[in-house]
Amino acid sequence: MPDYQAILDEIRDEVQPLLVQGHVADYIPRLACVPREKFGMAVVTLDGQLYQTGDAAEAFSIQSISKVYTLTLALQSIGDKLWQRVGREPSGNAFNSLVQLELENGLPRNPFINAGALVVADVVLATRKDPRAQLLAAIRGCSGNPDIRDDPEVALSEKANGFRNAALANFIRSFGNLEHAIDDILDFYFFQCSLAMSCVDLARGFLFLANQGRCPWSGTNILSTDQAKRINALMLTCGTYDAAGDFAYQVGIPGKSGVGGGIVGVIPNQLAVAVWSPALNAKGNSLAGSAALERFTAKTGLSIF
Ligand code: GLN
Repeated sequence: MPDYQAILDEIRDEVQPLLVQGHVADYIPRLACVPREKFGMAVVTLDGQLYQTGDAAEAFSIQSISKVYTLTLALQSIGDKLWQRVGREPSGNAFNSLVQLELENGLPRNPFINAGALVVADVVLATRKDPRAQLLAAIRGCSGNPDIRDDPEVALSEKANGFRNAALANFIRSFGNLEHAIDDILDFYFFQCSLAMSCVDLARGFLFLANQGRCPWSGTNILSTDQAKRINALMLTCGTYDAAGDFAYQVGIPGKSGVGGGIVGVIPNQLAVAVWSPALNAKGNSLAGSAALERFTAKTGLSIF
């Protein structure tokens, strides 16, 4: 077995020069306040071993990583019917792009671009009694941390500046692919994006995807084997947006990023790994975080290929 602790510490040292590169997201003003020097990384193996380095225990804004959890809720509720309303192809466009929607009649390319996540949010609102509470319960359950919560300041900061997401939602609605009031969908979406989790929470919280959909410590079936396989496939092809091809090439595992600087990766039957570094590359993925994951799979010799 690789010496995960030594590898994580080595990576933390090696990526230090990268922490000055890239840009911390500022289109959500609250995120711009996060110091770019932060770096954390955590690995949890299927047998429950935890390894961590740097700021791995500090909570940060998970942003689009939350889309994996809302997709999980939507698949639990309506299964494959979801694919009548959202596609499964990489977009090759920015996560918040509007152009493709016009050409494709309001059917978002995949559930991880913002347009797709808004449709998934609409499904969650339609199928869950108290969607916020159920999302929180699901995330707390998966990660084993009952203290995980949203950050209303981040949500408000995004709402006050969320003109592009409002445009996307209105546009999708014009094609009839959203049922709920635009404000309700956006409020839920900003809520899910504002959830704060640490690398340790995220590595634990994604372990069910490395374990055929079953939470390894509670034994709870969160998704079927088949559904977990498919979420991993979507993370590989769409989880890092228009950098997904490069991420698959460089890192070689399914991964999901967020503009808070987090990225979570899954190595089926082995482990989940989470990294956080706030400054982003041009595609909106953590710059040092991507490099750290590339080093992780190179040093451990683990990938899905
Ligand atoms: N809340 C962010 C947005 O909608 C999420 C984007 C992301 O993390 N890639 O722009």
